[in-house]
Amino acid sequence: MGMFKFIKKILGIGETEPPKPTPAAAPEKTISTPQPVTAAVPKQTAPAVKKAAAAPQKVAAAKKAAAKKTAKPAAKKAAAKKTAKPAAKKAAAKKAAKPAAKKAAAKKAAKPVAKKAAAKKSAKPAAKKAAAAAKPRVAAAAKKTPAAKTAKPAGAARKPAKGKSLKADYVIVGAGPAGVAACETLREQDAKASIILLSGETEPPYSRMAIPYVLTGMIEEPGTYLRKQDDHYKAMSINVHHASVDKLDTAKKIMQLSDGGSCAYGKLLIATGASPVKPPVKGLDLPGVHHCWTLEDARAIAQHASQGSRVVLMGAGFIGCIILEAIAARGTKLTVVEAEDRMVPRMMNDTAGNLIKKWCQEKGMTVHTSTRVSKLSKDGDAIKVEMDNGKSTQADLVVVATGVRANTSFLKGSKIKLNEGIVVDDRLESSVAGVYAAGDCAEGPDFSTGGWSVHAIQPTATEHGRIAALNMAGRDARYKGSLNMNVLDTAGLISSSFGEWQGVKGGQTAETLDGDRYRYTQLAFDGDRLVGALTLGRTENIGILRGLIQSRTDLGVWKDRLMEDPNRITEAYIANTH
Ligand SMILES: Cc1cc2nc3c(=O)[nH]c(=O)nc-3n(C[C@H](O)[C@H](O)[C@H](O)COP(=O)(O)OP(=O)(O)OC[C@H]3O[C@@H](n4cnc5c(N)ncnc54)[C@H](O)[C@@H]3O)c2cc1C
Repeated sequence: MGMFKFIKKILGIGETEPPKPTPAAAPEKTISTPQPVTAAVPKQTAPAVKKAAAAPQKVAAAKKAAAKKTAKPAAKKAAAKKTAKPAAKKAAAKKAAKPAAKKAAAKKAAKPVAKKAAAKKSAKPAAKKAAAAAKPRVAAAAKKTPAAKTAKPAGAARKPAKGKSLKADYVIVGAGPAGVAACETLREQDAKASIILLSGETEPPYSRMAIPYVLTGMIEEPGTYLRKQDDHYKAMSINVHHASVDKLDTAKKIMQLSDGGSCAYGKLLIATGASPVKPPVKGLDLPGVHHCWTLEDARAIAQHASQGSRVVLMGAGFIGCIILEAIAARGTKLTVVEAEDRMVPRMMNDTAGNLIKKWCQEKGMTVHTSTRVSKLSKDGDAIKVEMDNGKSTQADLVVVATGVRANTSFLKGSKIKLNEGIVVDDRLESSVAGVYAAGDCAEGPDFSTGGWSVHAIQPTATEHGRIAALNMAGRDARYKGSLNMNVLDTAGLISSSFGEWQGVKGGQTAETLDGDRYRYTQLAFDGDRLVGALTLGRTENIGILRGLIQSRTDLGVWKDRLMEDPNRITEAYIANTH
């Protein structure tokens, strides 16, 4: 089984087939909240299973082709074609239309006549009213303000609908896995509603977790697209509009967009994900320093990370280690700098984190733990990277993977409760009625702790999106909480962690180690129940761990047997589920 498929399987990420739009309003169905997973493969609809099965074959073929090419991955070609275009496009679009249109719109506040007219129509009251209130303002702004009229996003290939006032029954902000899952669920639930998907990036909606496979050449950029058919969203009557939200007014139910337009909503889902944070290090703005978060970043990295080039990776957390695998596969000379005392510190304990470090060193990488990059400076054509352990090195490329933060800054003043993310209840609704949040930007129920957490992983995003959409459509779907889980391939060494792998107060842990073979398992119990697990060098039956944790299975006598030998996990699973 290919590694891409393997990781997707364990995490429960199928290429979920979208629901077909129903010709009329969907009949009432009982909505059950997601059931605990008892096997590795998540419950999927029949077409989804079919599609998920087809996709790996493509990946396997792509992998073969990529292996032939080695030093010239497909990503490089794509990168050469596209270079800096999207960034310029975005920046230009932002500069051009925004300020003038915004100012003028602000001046023209209430337009009673238009409001009255809107009130007459009112088939979809909330959205229509709010939209009508917004529309004349922005339209007027476009007419009367010369600057707004002439504003042109220079360099943009696509003609943006600048200054447009949009409105829909449902508006989804953010076209990642959470946003896309939500749109499709809404269409399934409500065949007639108007749906707008606001996308802050120029590409079709895509999956960030596929970016490393673009860098290794296993897939090309379109392989990252969440839905592969060109007309997918159009066919579902989902209006994808490429603009970011600058500001949200929850009282008027309207948003200001980066293209100078506005968007009014009946119900709103915020699925804006997260963005990488920059640590306070001098020189992070130098050319040749990049994050690895977007397709645009991937293109930049592909340009610099070629056979023999020197790359410094700042941060060896979950995302850092995923990137590490991809960058190393391009034949680079890689130096990893991690501030904590081991690799993947939020996912692995001392034993496992240091085994991963040793593995990477044996693969020829230089790894500094308990070390921070203190300064970057230009050194001829290279970047000089200074570390707080007194050492320094030269790099052609520096990749910064030092953590992420939820994208919520545009919510300032919106009255939506924020903590580490947008705080939502078990229906994924925020503190403002009618406004929901999903994915990396949402702080939702945590399956293990019963508290609230941001679990920035794709399975959580997709499930959040689905549950939020059901509730937006008027159902009552409760979210049981996300399970903290990560499966990682670090240069060929597989590691995984689930739930409360560090153990819980009053609980017990058991471990088994074969350091020479890079094999390690640690199980954490609360009473007779498995509440967390951590594995290294294990690819078989990892899904069982997830299943046992999520089903809260009382293991009875098998708890003691597992305490003696954690490797007997499959036997324990069979004994307790058959
Ligand atoms: C390199 C990499 C590898 C990864 N690998 C894995 C993995 O193996 N397994 C896993 O589970 N997870 C992985 N992840 C994490 C996973 O990609 C995220 O958890 C997932 O993308 C979250 O989905 P989302 O829809 O919440 O947010 P995102 O996918 O981030 O989508 C949010 C969207 O909102 C847009 N947006 C932001 N602000 C605005 C705004 N103001 N207006 C309009 N739009 C806006 C963004 O441009 C973006 O398109 C990886 C991430 C990266 C970067």
